[in-house]
Amino acid sequence: MAKATTTIRQVLTYQPQHAAWFVANQALFNRVAAFYFEVIAAHEKLLDRSAQEALTALEQLTHTTRKNPAPIMPLSAIAEAIPAMFRRAAIHAALGSARSFYTHLSTWHTRKEKAQTRGKPFKERPPVPPRTWNKSVPFYVGQWKERTASSILLKVWTGTCWSWIKVRITGRELPAEALIGSPSLMKHGKQWWLHTPIEKPFSSPAKIEQQVTTNTATKICAIDLNLGEQIAVCTIQTVEGTILATKFIGGGRRISGFRKQQLGWIARNRRKTGIIAQGEQDNADLWRKISSHDDALAHLVSARIVQFAVEHGATILVFEHLGNLKPEKGKYSRRGNSKRAFWMKGRIFKYAKYKAWGERIITSRVNPRNTSRECARCHSLIARYHAGQPATGYTPGASLVLCPDCQMQGHADRNASLVIGQRLIARYQNPFQEKPQAPLRAERVVKATGVSRSQVARRKEKPSISQARHGAGNEHGTAQDGLLWMEERPSSIPHPLRLFNE
Ligand SMILES: [Zn+2]
Repeated sequence: MAKATTTIRQVLTYQPQHAAWFVANQALFNRVAAFYFEVIAAHEKLLDRSAQEALTALEQLTHTTRKNPAPIMPLSAIAEAIPAMFRRAAIHAALGSARSFYTHLSTWHTRKEKAQTRGKPFKERPPVPPRTWNKSVPFYVGQWKERTASSILLKVWTGTCWSWIKVRITGRELPAEALIGSPSLMKHGKQWWLHTPIEKPFSSPAKIEQQVTTNTATKICAIDLNLGEQIAVCTIQTVEGTILATKFIGGGRRISGFRKQQLGWIARNRRKTGIIAQGEQDNADLWRKISSHDDALAHLVSARIVQFAVEHGATILVFEHLGNLKPEKGKYSRRGNSKRAFWMKGRIFKYAKYKAWGERIITSRVNPRNTSRECARCHSLIARYHAGQPATGYTPGASLVLCPDCQMQGHADRNASLVIGQRLIARYQNPFQEKPQAPLRAERVVKATGVSRSQVARRKEKPSISQARHGAGNEHGTAQDGLLWMEERPSSIPHPLRLFNE
């Protein structure tokens, strides 16, 4: 069984004084979480341990019991009589923040050292630990009870004591078959909501290899993500190659214009205030604004991609790997903008993958090399050009393509999207055409054939290893050959092949 996690959001109705209690409860939670962040900072080694071990160690350091009468950093110095489950929720929140902070810090150190060994200037500011805490309070088992479709009892800190209060719930009901997680109290504007994560179990969809090799009618939704106006171009095609639908998701220019404006303001503010104090995040509000805009758009675009896939009955989503960020030259706002657009592609992928999974759609990625230069119909190199200009050469970012070999003419991003889909199909029909996923297998190929791993060469030539092994140079392999090569786990490759590895 597989599972999908979603959050059910429900509005709460409560007595007016309860709102003040929720605020007090959250303030206490954040004080305790901030306290634990300090404890972790003083015992950084804790982060190398598992969550469970770190929790135990942190309680040992802070929690007074008969067996542990004098902990090193007592929690009681902050607040008395914190319920165990409230404490544990705060510890987990602190651990999460600390893990994220120290990971960022260590990658920052790595980048700094790298720059210094190369003798390059390094101006990037180090990440800062959270200065304010504003986390929502999760209610672990024991902090809530008697949940029905219309009400729940919550144990909250009123500012003076711990108290059970009953609140009414309205909104979407919890699905009957779902596994219910710890609800959280969230404030949206002036209104308090209850967010409950739920896990929905469902039967696992068949693996991509199985879908692709056993059913030629399997529909694949391929997505080309761009930095231009068309943020995403999606196509639906079947394994046998019928193209069924295309969708353009625009809005790139608007978000880029918005970002550019904000980044311009940030740059101007920086010029005004002069040198930025070491470690200080300037223009926090502007940054937050850009970030929340980007995030909202990534959610919107990913939701539309998944919706399009669902509408057409696609069971597989495929993107290309992002590759590396190639920073643009130019003004601060331009460089910053392209960097953020790149990050957004990553977020769209992440959100789409997660949303698709809830619809039993599997997500995959393929090698991005030359997806925009290849003809989706005959795989020759195409000419890419702007409308109204001669159809020759290759102009990156231009919107039209023409294939000199088969005369295919069309939108460049749509063509790229089709190529992305075909590359996934090819992976299972002829696994040597793409850079293999498992490095182990790639090594095998090199060792076995002595053929260079040059990607262009591999695409053009037939895999000599399969010819050697199976006699006939049968392009797609028989069903059995297919099965042989479909296995993801290198360990499951049948014995005769091991020869090449040993
Ligand atoms: Zn062509």
